[in-house]
Amino acid sequence: MGIERIEVYRVSLAYVEPFRIALGTSVKSENVIVRVLTDFGIEGWGEASPSFKITNETPETVINALTKIGPRLIGMCPFKIEQIIEKIDEIIEGNTSAKAAIDMAILDIIGKKARKPISSLLGGYRDEVLTDITIGIKSPKEMAKSAVKYIKKGFKVLKVKVGVNPSEDVERIRRIRKAVGPEIKIRIDANQGWTPKEAIEIIKKIEKYNVELVEQPVKAEDIKGMATVRKNSSIPIMADESVHSPKDALEVIKAEAADVINIKLMKSGGIWKAMKIAAIAEAANIPCMVGCMGESNLGITAAVHFAAAVKNVQYADLDADLLLKDKLVRKGGAKVKGSKRIVPKKNGLGIGAFNENLLGKPVKVFK
Ligand code: MG
Repeated sequence: MGIERIEVYRVSLAYVEPFRIALGTSVKSENVIVRVLTDFGIEGWGEASPSFKITNETPETVINALTKIGPRLIGMCPFKIEQIIEKIDEIIEGNTSAKAAIDMAILDIIGKKARKPISSLLGGYRDEVLTDITIGIKSPKEMAKSAVKYIKKGFKVLKVKVGVNPSEDVERIRRIRKAVGPEIKIRIDANQGWTPKEAIEIIKKIEKYNVELVEQPVKAEDIKGMATVRKNSSIPIMADESVHSPKDALEVIKAEAADVINIKLMKSGGIWKAMKIAAIAEAANIPCMVGCMGESNLGITAAVHFAAAVKNVQYADLDADLLLKDKLVRKGGAKVKGSKRIVPKKNGLGIGAFNENLLGKPVKVFK
């Protein structure tokens, strides 16, 4: 039983509105889709949503990486996933989004062959996943307006992007808390936008607004700075850009720099490595979040399966597909109900059909 053919597609998905975070603004998400076909008639799908600022990848680098990886996977058994991961790590370093797409497609195949949803195969801990919805950076007043709009739609948790201007950031939180009332959870993400000193000052000022988590307050590489912020913070600190791999997780834990770790499949290289990060964090009593980049419902559904499978994945920020106007997945995938993502019960990932116009024709085929 082996992998017979791999197809690579390039897709461009527009956001509903320009999405701004401390690292920059996006109007569309440029992703790469992978289809892996086997000689036993089962195919799997995966998605790479590269971020140059975070994983140093672009659609071009993803396609280049897949051009190196793809031909070497032909003939390999998809059930030997540990061997496949070892092989792709030997072929090329980094390129975690490209690797995540392969990992998802392989797990999709395993699930379909086993006639089980991926979440059931990997742990089956929960059937639905509470997600937040992200409010990109705008004026404090506009952000409070967006917050109210999302609460009316049924969301119970807000992820608020900050990290551009310390005094305006405090005002963002104040306005949003006032607008949504005391019951709604508010977590904030500075995307490395503050110095440790600024972070400590801002956290003191926003304590009274009942903020659940402060994500990546300082530069990714400034683990010491993040540990200092954490020591001086009454709000739990979550590492995102500082943790890509299991090794990074261990470093952040040793430095006592985070209370929570945000895992993203695009940073870890897929679900298989994400499971290892979650296990390392669990051993240190540190819960994890699963977050996302600009994935369509395909990549988000993979992350929903991971979140559902693993007990230690206690938080989810799985909303990228909801912020995109273009819907690549036409049928199936993880639906949203209020603030919850529902885990598909179909075998594998549970993706039914794609919008063929958005998917287009393969740009590369390996066989
Ligand atoms: Mg983040």
